[in-house]
This record gives sequence, structure tokens and C-alpha cells, in this order.
Amino acid sequence: MTEKKYVLALDIGTTSAKAVLFQRNGRVVAEDENAYPVYHSHPSWVEQDPLEIEQAAINAISGAVQKSGISHREIICVGISSAMHSLICMNDQHEAISPSITWADGRSVEQANYLKQTDGKDIYLNTGTPIHPMSPLVKLIWMKETHYQPYLNAAKFVSIKEFLLQKWFGKYIVDYAIASATGLFNIHTFTWDQLALSSAGITADQLSEPVPSTAICQGLTTELAERLSLPQDIPFVIGSSDGPLANLGIGAINPGDVAITVGTSGAIRQMASKPQTDDLQEIFCYGVTKDLWIMGGPTNNGGNVFYWLKEVFGEVEVERALASNENPYDLLTALAKGVNPGADGLLFLPFLNGERAPYWDADARGSFIGLTQSHQKQHMIRAGLEGVIFSIYSIGEALERLAGKPSNIFASGGFARSPLWLQILTDIFGHDVQVPVSHQSSAWGAAWFGLYALGEVSSLAAIKEDIPMKEAFVPHAVNHARYQELYRTYSELYFALKPHFHKLSAFQRV
Ligand code: ADP
Repeated sequence: MTEKKYVLALDIGTTSAKAVLFQRNGRVVAEDENAYPVYHSHPSWVEQDPLEIEQAAINAISGAVQKSGISHREIICVGISSAMHSLICMNDQHEAISPSITWADGRSVEQANYLKQTDGKDIYLNTGTPIHPMSPLVKLIWMKETHYQPYLNAAKFVSIKEFLLQKWFGKYIVDYAIASATGLFNIHTFTWDQLALSSAGITADQLSEPVPSTAICQGLTTELAERLSLPQDIPFVIGSSDGPLANLGIGAINPGDVAITVGTSGAIRQMASKPQTDDLQEIFCYGVTKDLWIMGGPTNNGGNVFYWLKEVFGEVEVERALASNENPYDLLTALAKGVNPGADGLLFLPFLNGERAPYWDADARGSFIGLTQSHQKQHMIRAGLEGVIFSIYSIGEALERLAGKPSNIFASGGFARSPLWLQILTDIFGHDVQVPVSHQSSAWGAAWFGLYALGEVSSLAAIKEDIPMKEAFVPHAVNHARYQELYRTYSELYFALKPHFHKLSAFQRV
């Protein structure tokens, strides 16, 4: 075992690149975060500039190393985590000739709907990726059908992580989990799926080589090493996608261990020892290693809902927070805390961005239901926080159908900064919730994969010994009963309102 004491993780998120420097026991030494813009050149398009993301990643790594004050020679390796489903067209000079089209991009709704009625189910059963505009497969079909010029000129199609690895190490490689989330990767054979490839109109040699998460890249140029503040020979371990890495980094590895992450979006996930697909196509199943898969469901409406509540209702709190150097989310959470669980019968359907699991309906819309004259701003905030968790609970029910009842529940992501939001989660699920000290679970998972790849730790599961945890949250029986009663109504509302959501969404598009 090396004498070196630290391990670095790069986490390429939806809105920012984060670099976190850890001690070997999971304690955070330093972190740095660099945001990048999102571009909407059409209302439903959600794009980013790959070069801006590269610059943010370099700044984050160099920022974390410099903040820590340690010698870069003390760092064992860099593990990489990345958000899923991004797609970039590359020319034969290895240059990006399209923006990075993100998971949130909605341009290919029609292609998704058509595919669902044709080969969609067969492709889902092979790939484990629900048919939805989030997936690179459906984006490629859109590109093919609309004669998108970068698609016609592309030598390769890559995700943002592959783009960085190509630029930094000159290799087109992709880890199994990022490959799985393209909708083009067969989770039974761990090869590119012929049916999906032919639907997308591309060949396997236009995609990267799938490799295990322990694959190592080494050999930075002098100039890049300097910009990163890292030694030239430091090993970069490819790692995985942010979902499985969050499960690993939180210790949710065994059957029955459920991880709930709420950052900008959210998800509930569980590892499995064999691939398992869902006849109703509500749940994804992605390959992680050749003997580990991850099942679960994503929501489009997590922390972004609280952001929206803050923007719409929180003017006073935002101003006060600025003046007193407090956090506006904390001030709004304090208001919501004064309201009874269940917000005195006010429900919020959080589908501000349409919804993925469990309904997979891009035309779902948000709504407050049950308003009376006695409901105030604080009720709206509380109902909003509760609505996000009811939605995750509904995805949890779908996951439970396949994976059985949870034995342990773990939570991470930006929402875990709020004890009230965590208590709402605990009370709605009626189950203890365990929370790590650092909410950067994907980064710790990536760092751990790095240590594992280099033989510094004995197994993935051994991470359980090295995750600093807070005290567990415990459910209140009375609150759980109240939430169960409200959930019965909540769970019927989407179906009751669906035709109206669709009419309104068509109206909004005109
Ligand atoms: P990302 O998924 O982009 O990496 P984060 O995991 O940092 O994002 O989560 C961001 C979200 O966390 C915000 O949108 C907000 O809803 C929530 N959040 C951040 N700070 C707080 C806080 N103090 N209290 C409650 N929620 C918070």
C-alpha cells in the first residue's frame, strides 16, 4: 500500500464540476466547485459547451488541490463521476462539432413516443434504459430524422466524460454505467446493442470502447498537468456515473439498501446482482460491473423545485439572507417548519419539468391542490418540499415492486443540508434514514473506485467502514400515518389530471 494519504474525485454534474479531495477514511480535506451555463437555443433544448465544462473541471481540480495546501505528490489518484445521458458529436479530428446535449433536453419527445409504439420495449429489455428524450439513443434518432448536420458529419458520438478523456489522454473509452445510460448498450452482454444501433442509424465503431470502472488513464501533458496542479503521471480512474457512485459513496451496496439522492434532480436506486428489467418499463437497470447492476427511477423535480419556490415566493428571504449573510433556503425551511406535516391538507404535484419515473410523461405539469383561504406562503413552501418527497415515494413503490421492501434507506445530495426536508423524507417513508456527513457521495464513490482500481482497498463493499455518518433520522408514527392518508390522494391526482396536463402543455407550446 502506498504511503500517500489523499485521493481526489472529479464529479461532472448537471450544473457544475466539483472536485473533492478526501483522506483515505472519507473525510473531506478540500473541495472546489465551478458552475457552467446551460443554453436554450430553442425552448425545449438544453445544451452546454463541452469546452466550458472542460475548463470548469480543470479549475475545480486545481482549486481543490490549491485550497488543501498539500503537495500534489501526496494524491494517490483521481476517480471520475459524471452525470448521465449527455451526447456530443465529434469529427475525425477529435473536435466537438455539436454542443453537449444534456439529459434534460426535450427535443426528441416525438421520436420517444414513436419508438415506444414500435421497437421501444425490445430495446428497453436489452438496454434497461426507459425510452425517453433523456437518452442519447432517442436524441440520435432525432438527429437522423432531422438531418442534423453534426450527426451527418460525426466520426464519433460521446458523452461529456468521454470527451474529457479523449482530450486529456487521446482515448475513446467509456465505463459500463455511462454506456448503459445511452440506451445503446446491452446490459446482458456488455456490448453495444445491434437493435438500438440500427434504430439510431449508427455503427458500433462510432461509439467508444466500453471498459470496466477500474480502467486507468495516465500521462498528462506537461501543460495540462500544470493547469490541473497535478503530477504528470497521476492515474485517472474512469469510475462510473453519478447514480451508482452515489450508492457506493453512501454505502448502499447490498440488496435492500436504498439510496435517495436529491440534488437539482433526484433519484431512488438499489444495486442488484443480476440485470432485472420491468415489464411496465418504469424502472431503469444499468450495468455497473460485470456482476453488479443498478435499478431505480429518476425524477426531473428535486432541488430545482425548492429553487423555483425560492424564486417565486422567497423575495423577502433572499433579500434578508443577502443582508445577514444567511442561506435563503434555511430561512424558507424555517418558515415551512412552523406548518403542520401535510401542510393542512395542501398538496403539491411537483412536475414543473414534466416527469420521468414513474409516469415518464414529458407533458405532466405542476399544481397546488386543495388551497383554502387559510393557506399562506409557508404552506406553499412546505407542500412543495413534501410534494418532491411524495414523488420520490411513488418511484420507490415502483422500485419495491421489482426489488422488494427496503431494509436500509440512505439520503444524499443538496437537500440533505436541510434537517426538515430529511425529516419529511423519514416521515413519508416511515423508515429510519441514514445520512453521511459529506453530501458529496458520488465523489466519494468515484474516489473509492480509484483506490479499488489501484489495489489500495480490498473490495467495493469495504467502503462501508469508511463513510462518516451523521445520526440517523427516525420517523414519527403520527406524521407517517397522516402522510399515508394524504398519499392516497396524491397518488390518484396525476391520473385524474393527466388529460388536463396534456391539454395545457399543448397550449403552452403554441
Ligand atoms: P447538483 O445536483 O446540481 O449537484 P446539489 O446536490 O448541490 O446540486 O443540490 C442543489 C439543491 O439542493 C438546490 O436546488 C436546493 O434545492 C437544495 N439545497 C441547497 N442548499 C439547501 C439548504 N440549505 N436547505 C435545503 N435545500 C438546499
